[in-house]
Amino acid sequence: MKNEPDIWRSVDQHAPDLIGLSDRVWGMPEICYTEYRSVAEHTAMLRDKGFQITENVAGIPTAVIGEAGQGGPIIAFLGEYDALPGLSQEAGVAEPRPLPGNGQGHGCGHNLLGSAALLAACALKDWLEATGTPGRVRYYGCPAEEGGAAKSFMAREGAFDGVAVAITWHPHCFNEVAPALSLANTRMDFEFTGRASHAAAAPHLGRSALDAAQLMCTGVQYLREHVPQESRIHYSFLDAGGVAPNVVQAKAKLRFAIRSPDLPGMFELNERVKRIAQGAAMMTDTRVDISIMSAVSNLLPNAPLEEAMQANLERLGPPVFDEADRAFAAEIQATLQASDIASAWRGVGLAPRDTAALCDFIVPRGTAREPMIGSTDVGDVSWIVPTVQAHAATLAIGTPGHSWQVTAQGKTPAAHKVLTWVAKVMAATAQDCLTNPDLIARARADLDARLAAAPYVCPIPAEVRPPLQPRPDAA
Ligand SMILES: [Zn+2]
Repeated sequence: MKNEPDIWRSVDQHAPDLIGLSDRVWGMPEICYTEYRSVAEHTAMLRDKGFQITENVAGIPTAVIGEAGQGGPIIAFLGEYDALPGLSQEAGVAEPRPLPGNGQGHGCGHNLLGSAALLAACALKDWLEATGTPGRVRYYGCPAEEGGAAKSFMAREGAFDGVAVAITWHPHCFNEVAPALSLANTRMDFEFTGRASHAAAAPHLGRSALDAAQLMCTGVQYLREHVPQESRIHYSFLDAGGVAPNVVQAKAKLRFAIRSPDLPGMFELNERVKRIAQGAAMMTDTRVDISIMSAVSNLLPNAPLEEAMQANLERLGPPVFDEADRAFAAEIQATLQASDIASAWRGVGLAPRDTAALCDFIVPRGTAREPMIGSTDVGDVSWIVPTVQAHAATLAIGTPGHSWQVTAQGKTPAAHKVLTWVAKVMAATAQDCLTNPDLIARARADLDARLAAAPYVCPIPAEVRPPLQPRPDAA
């Protein structure tokens, strides 16, 4: 049947190199636009595997593209390699044990994500060369998924223009085609400026920025009843104006995250929150300056690509674990609450099976789910390019996202097996696209039909720059 076994063999051949890359990146956790060592590792691997390199993609020094092949459609594999603060953890240990260092850790498994995507790209490159098929493969090394919206900035600068199909995955508790469920999300800052005065001797001369910030929060609490249910609005105080109660606070700063199931809904909600801020400023005779820090779009589904990926999941069959893999996953599960595990099963719409702590099956499509939904910058890619994602079970069932348990499971033998396995799923889906041009046409038509209802508008305003960080040795 076609050439799947060949492309899967090619994945197996490259796998040791990419597992090594994943483990090295796990060992150098770098957060939000500081991924200088991680991108250097990915760039070196791309060069080693014979890809043409484009560095500094969209002006971001920790983003890289590797390309191979001639003519034909461009298939993109999206990789990531950023870590998280506060999630340092020894690998292969089922109790909290942070490593010495800066406290950062791969608590979302992006070391695996990037390496498996690059592995799929290597296999597709081999196949293109061996068969002379017209087509190009690109690996996108994307930084700052966590809070940095790098792909959204890259999308705004045209980095994904001309790509026919984008394929990616995320470490997860289950094996499945990832449902296209994510919320569009804007991070917006509200800086109130008033006038300081002695809070006892001259309160009438003061204009309190802290009062304005509190009134804004109160206004938003009242807003919540009158927004679509799936919306989410959260906030934090970046600056409460100081520690002296006897000074009228002249400044205060809030950061809001405003989330909605779709882009048009988010744009509308953003304006409503802004008007509340302006109302709070008016009530307190203060001024408010509003700025967007970053934003991402919701994910758009793509039925033709999801069907193609599901067929490949089923053709390949689930990952095969051994007793040691299952035993460690059971140890991790013992650190979780029963509610974590129950919630994970509800999230994929399946009744709990207590046979194993690791998912050794494929979740069917179309189950009735109760997903808990976050946001991802893959969303912006999906508005420009037909996009499909897999979930693959590197994690014991019930492992919460962004936890020390994720870091602990980031370079286990089970994680390595799944890294290789999901690269096969992605490579075969890409191969389907290149051997069956009708699939690309149907995927594009699916996206175009969605865009006819609401065209893509990058949610990050043109003047907002990514919060790039200096190269550590250049400081
Ligand atoms: Zn992630």
